[in-house]
Amino acid sequence: MMRIAAAALHDLLVGLFRAGGSEAAEAEAVAAHLVEANLVGHDSHSAIRAPKYLAWVAAGELLPNRHATIAIDAGPLLVLDGGFGYGQVIGAEAMARAIERVRAHGLALIGIRNSGHLGRIGAWAETLAEAGLVSVHFVNTSGYGILVAPHGATERRLSANPIAAGAPGPDGPIVLDIATSATAEGKIQVARNKGEALPPGLVLDGAGRPITDPEAFYRDPPGALLPFGGHRGSGLSVFCEILAGSLTGGESSHAASPTAWRLVNNMLTLAVDPARLGDGHAFAADVARLTDWVRSARPATPGQRPLLPGEIERRTRAERLRDGIPLDPATVRQLAEAAAAHGVALPGELAETV
Ligand code: NAD
Repeated sequence: MMRIAAAALHDLLVGLFRAGGSEAAEAEAVAAHLVEANLVGHDSHSAIRAPKYLAWVAAGELLPNRHATIAIDAGPLLVLDGGFGYGQVIGAEAMARAIERVRAHGLALIGIRNSGHLGRIGAWAETLAEAGLVSVHFVNTSGYGILVAPHGATERRLSANPIAAGAPGPDGPIVLDIATSATAEGKIQVARNKGEALPPGLVLDGAGRPITDPEAFYRDPPGALLPFGGHRGSGLSVFCEILAGSLTGGESSHAASPTAWRLVNNMLTLAVDPARLGDGHAFAADVARLTDWVRSARPATPGQRPLLPGEIERRTRAERLRDGIPLDPATVRQLAEAAAAHGVALPGELAETV
């Protein structure tokens, strides 16, 4: 496992996305989002995705240099169409609109339909929390991303359907960011790249048998992810389909969806300004009290206090900014192949290892 400085990885990704036809601002935005995912430890949604995004661009599935357009505008209720552009751009534009609408109305319900991959969904909750807002985000993937067997089944019907929530906290945003599947598909890719077994209870093979070998997931017929928490995760996933897919017009996961041939994310975001709900009570003080209360619980492992959502990401970020971002050999090879195919120079650290 080699380590690379965040700035060097960022520059490599900017070069790749520029070569893939993105304007400078878009290449910067996509690279920044992916490297941030590396920094906070969500490797499944990090630079590992860059070669795949470029392949989607080459196949016409993902369209560079698109911007969110307004499909429905009813004050605090807004639906944006992503035009199958990079989700990192569409998501940022949608969050800017969310902030603007919350400032005007106290809350906003923002739907995004037809966006490219929105990446690490917690990033959007963080953006709003940094603006002082509380938010929840439900995401589905219409068509292409059907991966998850509903509770009680052994065959794919649902997408990995992440849910994120964010709030300003006393020492930084409190951010929950979870897939409703027992594992994210990207984590199977990471395990496959590292040649590691998966923990049991996460994945079935194409015959519906529980497996730990990541390779078996990708055989023909392909396997299925299980929902987390049995019927609970499965039920939340169905509501991601309804809220992010059916309600926004982006559609629920279905093999016959008009977007079934490309990866499309749809997202429903509810954002609210806590100050606008104030009837004299202090939101920030109550969240600070909650934070202390949770952290003060007797630790299961002596010396390791419980963490709030978002804390582990902040810790990982500080460590990786200091020590560099770890990249496994398969990810390095994939980035090197993409760089060679697009005529982009590899940073020194990477060139030495391939
Ligand atoms: P995960 O299982 O790593 O859970 C992450 C969440 O749990 C974070 O909120 C984190 O702060 C919290 N957490 C982790 N360890 C903790 C601890 N010890 N104590 C307390 N809290 C802790 O995440 P995941 O479900 O594997 O999802 C990974 C990423 O994949 C997310 O960023 C998600 O948005 C992304 N994703 C995106 C899509 C898409 O379609 N765009 C689909 C699926 C997943």
